[in-house]
Amino acid sequence: MKNTVERKKGIQRSKTIAEMAEESVIQKHGILRRLNLFYEITSRVDGAESYNNVLDVLNSEAKRLISYDVCVIGLLNDAKSHYIIHTIPALSEISDLTRNYFSIDEGVLGWVIKHQASLIEDINSGPVFSEPIEGKLRDLGITSLLGVPMKTGKEIVGSLIFGSSKPAFYTEEDATIANFLGLYLATSLKYASSFQKERKRLSQIELINAVTRQLSSMLQLDDLLRVAACAIQRTFNYFDVTVLLLSEDKTELILEAHSGNFADFLPHGYKQNVDKGIIGWVATHGEKVLSNDVSQDPRYIVYEYHNTKSELTVPIKLDNEVVGVLNVEDTKLHAFDEIDAMVLETLCDQLGIAINNAKLYDELRQANMKLTELDKMKSEFLGMVSHDFRSPLSSIMLAARSLLKNKDIQNIQRAKEYLQLVVDQANRLNKLAEDTLSITKIESGQLSYYFKIVNIDRLIQDAVSMVRFSSKHKFEYRVEPNALFIMGDQAKLRQTLQNLVSNAVKYSPSGGKTSILCEEHSSTEIVISVSDEGIGISPDKVDKLFKKFSRIDTDQTKEIKGAGLGLWICREIIQAHGGRIWVESEPGKGSTFKFTLKKMHHSEGEITFSHQHDA
Ligand code: ADP
Repeated sequence: MKNTVERKKGIQRSKTIAEMAEESVIQKHGILRRLNLFYEITSRVDGAESYNNVLDVLNSEAKRLISYDVCVIGLLNDAKSHYIIHTIPALSEISDLTRNYFSIDEGVLGWVIKHQASLIEDINSGPVFSEPIEGKLRDLGITSLLGVPMKTGKEIVGSLIFGSSKPAFYTEEDATIANFLGLYLATSLKYASSFQKERKRLSQIELINAVTRQLSSMLQLDDLLRVAACAIQRTFNYFDVTVLLLSEDKTELILEAHSGNFADFLPHGYKQNVDKGIIGWVATHGEKVLSNDVSQDPRYIVYEYHNTKSELTVPIKLDNEVVGVLNVEDTKLHAFDEIDAMVLETLCDQLGIAINNAKLYDELRQANMKLTELDKMKSEFLGMVSHDFRSPLSSIMLAARSLLKNKDIQNIQRAKEYLQLVVDQANRLNKLAEDTLSITKIESGQLSYYFKIVNIDRLIQDAVSMVRFSSKHKFEYRVEPNALFIMGDQAKLRQTLQNLVSNAVKYSPSGGKTSILCEEHSSTEIVISVSDEGIGISPDKVDKLFKKFSRIDTDQTKEIKGAGLGLWICREIIQAHGGRIWVESEPGKGSTFKFTLKKMHHSEGEITFSHQHDA
């Protein structure tokens, strides 16, 4: 009781001299003076653009019209079932209220709203008074109450209560003025509300675009959902956002991403049966749920440590089928409206598309990974087989070659022919094994190059010595003196040249001359050309020559064996040397394969030569 008296005194003491003077002015000039004042105030503050604007008007001007110690405004929600209160002045005692959100069945503000009528009462007398609001007012020393509805035509938007510490303070005249004020405020608030809604809608559209832009470029599903939850929560300033996806068998929702204040509450991967909770209902029915007071929603599951009051859940659909839900929660009652629902529905449409893209990408990646794995295994196998092939083949070739040189054998024509056959076929097999090994090494990035000074003259001789010319074939070569040395990998360049020379012979079935020319190409490059007088290549086929396994299928090439690997390998080797390879050809006349190599730098030569001398 002592406390109450003190507070009561506090309010009386807080009145300024100016306020008291104003009070007496009001009393003197009567209704006409007050209506004039009302007109002056309302025409000055016309066009308030937000709730706060309207409340400011009330705060700064209303006291000049109606004397009060406390003014409380109750603003109705869209559903007209509850109201939120604002107090003027925002007394700390009033903000001690355990809540600021009430049903229209509660309190004097609720009574005025429900009955759409004015009221002049003593706080201790009427049956309409209830503890949550009036109890507090009583604590503050309020005794007289004046309540009026805030109405625009037929629509009620809230109620307005004035409280005074003086007993039996308010008159019928005060009620008339307060009713005018209620009408004015209701109209302003309605205008402010639609203005605010429109502004919110516009800014939401811009924000939706911003979030959608972020999502459209994401292909990793985990990242996508995480970024989506985070972007939606931060951009729209929601209290808590979760994204849950349906399990394969559609019996459970799995928590995939979380952002906000409850983030530590449910673990990643948390599962909830679809027959439970608001989220389960949304997943099974494919419709959104907007619950601004979850305690009134029987579908809501109460969590012990969760103080959710409002929940908005929207389905994420793909081709009309629910794949998951987006869930937004708040610890305030009536935290969401239809604009929030519209925003989340638009975002979920986008999220559905983005999830689909990410899933497709993931399937592709998995398939690719399998293929890469298979390809690796195949390469390893081929590499191993071709490697193991070569040593027995070398022994066979060596044995057959030495037998061929044997005088006794040379005298037996049949034996000589057979042996030659063994050497030729073993050579072919050897080339195939060598090509396969090169391919697997190139593809797995394991082909190493050992660069040193290469003498082109020697290189040509080495390569040619490994190609068998028939009596119909002639060979000649020329190396210009200023193109005699280059830096390169001797073995691989030999392999390249050998491939080109053996092709020149192979694709000249009627014989002819094969020539190699090595000359300067530019100040930095030399060019080596391998020409033949064989079948040639038609211009439209030239493009595919250097591709793997590509062979040109014509009547003339039908009988010529090959795997279509040689030129691909040549190109890889030449490119690794920083050069280019191409062909100039005329069908029926012959072909010239040309490749460039970088000229040796003067300084490179000097250093390496001195090394050679030392050796
Ligand atoms: P392979 O000779 O084993 O088939 P290559 O990669 O060495 O594989 O050659 C690819 C194709 O290019 C050959 O199948 C052939 O049709 C054509 N080709 C290569 N060299 C010549 C050439 N000197 N004259 C005509 N055609 C050629």
